Amino acid sequence: MSSHTSHTSHPPRYRGRLAPSPTGYLHLGHARTFWIAQQRAQAAGGSLVLRNEDLDFARCKPEFVTAMFEDLRWFGFEWQEGPDCGGPFAPYNQSERRLVYESALQKLRDTGLIYPCTCSRKDILAAAAAPHETEAEPIYPGTCRPNSHVSTPTSRPFSWRFRVPDGETISFVDGNFGPQQFVAGKDFGDFIVWRQDDAPAYQLAVVADDAAMQITEVVRGADLLLSTARQILLYRALGLTPPAFYHCALMTDTTGTRLAKRHDSLSLRTLQNQGHLPTTLRQGWCSA
Ligand code: GLU
Repeated sequence: MSSHTSHTSHPPRYRGRLAPSPTGYLHLGHARTFWIAQQRAQAAGGSLVLRNEDLDFARCKPEFVTAMFEDLRWFGFEWQEGPDCGGPFAPYNQSERRLVYESALQKLRDTGLIYPCTCSRKDILAAAAAPHETEAEPIYPGTCRPNSHVSTPTSRPFSWRFRVPDGETISFVDGNFGPQQFVAGKDFGDFIVWRQDDAPAYQLAVVADDAAMQITEVVRGADLLLSTARQILLYRALGLTPPAFYHCALMTDTTGTRLAKRHDSLSLRTLQNQGHLPTTLRQGWCSA
C-alpha cells in the first residue's frame, strides 16, 4: 500500500494483531474488537498478525482452532502473518513458542522482581480480606512475597509471581479511552507470570510475543485495561518499550451482560448458520 502522507521521519510501520484463544467459538463481541483492530491496521497502511493463543491446554481444543480460522475468514478478516500463512516471526501458535517465554522468565528472574509462590487460588481467596468484586482476581495478600529480593524455589509446586511496586501509579494514554491510571498494590497486586502447571501465564506470554512480533499497537477489549497496566510493568522489567494501546468498549447482550463464549446464540457459527451476513452484522459499528 502506498503512503501519501507528508511525514518524512521513520516511525515503525504499524503492526497490529488479532490474538484469539481457541477455548470456545468466537462471538460477535470478539468480531467487533477484531474488526476495529483490522480497520486500524488498514487505515495506517500496516499489517495484521494472527496469533493463536493456545496456552491453556485444559480449555483449548483443536476443533475451536479450526472453527476460529473458518469464522474469522467468513467474517472478512485478512491477516498477513499467522499460523496458516507463516511470516517472519513464526511460529504463530503460542504452544510452539515456549523458548521465547522461558527466555523472558529467565530475564525476570535475573531482575529479582519475581518470586516463587506456592499459594493456590483457594489460599488467596481465603486470605484476601476484602476481595474486589469487580476484579476476577483478588489482590494477592503477599503470603509468599519474600522480604529480600533473593528467593529460591521450594520443592512444593510453585508458580512465579511478579512483585508490583506498591503505591506506584501506572499511567498510559489509551488510544480510545484517553489517559488511564492504575495504582499497583491497590488496583492490582502481585501477579503470576509462570503457572504452577509449568506453563507461561497470559501476562508474560502476551508481552513476550507482542514485543518479539514487533507489534506497534495492541487493540483489545476494555476488560483487559488492568492487564495492560500489569503488562506495562513487565515491559519495563524486561527493558522493552510497550506498544500503543487501544481498548474497545465491550459488547453487551440485551440484558446488559457482557458477551462471553457461553453466549452461543451470538457465536459467529450460529449467526452464520442462521443466514446472517457479516456486512449486515457489522452495520452500525463505527469505524475506529
Ligand atoms: N488471547 C487473549 C484473549 O482472547 C488475548 C487478549 C489480548 O491480549 O489482546 O483474551
